[in-house]
Amino acid sequence: MNTSPDSGLVAACGLYCGACHKYKKGSCAGCRENDKATWCKIRICTKERGFASCADCREFTDLDDCKKLNNIFAKFFALVFRSDRKASLGRIAEIGIEAYAEEMHGEKLMVIKRK
Ligand code: SF4
Ligand code: SF4
Repeated sequence: MNTSPDSGLVAACGLYCGACHKYKKGSCAGCRENDKATWCKIRICTKERGFASCADCREFTDLDDCKKLNNIFAKFFALVFRSDRKASLGRIAEIGIEAYAEEMHGEKLMVIKRK
């Protein structure tokens, strides 16, 4: 387990696994290392395209238009946890994945919250 900011812990969808309690207690290796997450189309899609995350994707001018990224689970997650993955991905595109990892580590946040 890594207790320092680590861009390798930024998930394909923009979540910061380093701030997740499952990662911290050692029961999950984080999105990138979790090859059991074969159900996740976002993870598969970014891997196939060689992206660290959807922040690298130029297929859509608005990430809301990607049906893989905005699947039913993502919508449910966003509602329950007030998460804003689009804002997280936008932040990665803006400041870079390393600075994003540092920011999320410092704020102990898995994802930027909806305002
Ligand atoms: S939704 Fe997919 S990309 Fe996001 S953390 Fe989970 S497995 Fe990784
Ligand atoms: S935004 Fe959609 S198409 Fe682009 S990498 Fe992410 S899941 Fe794939």
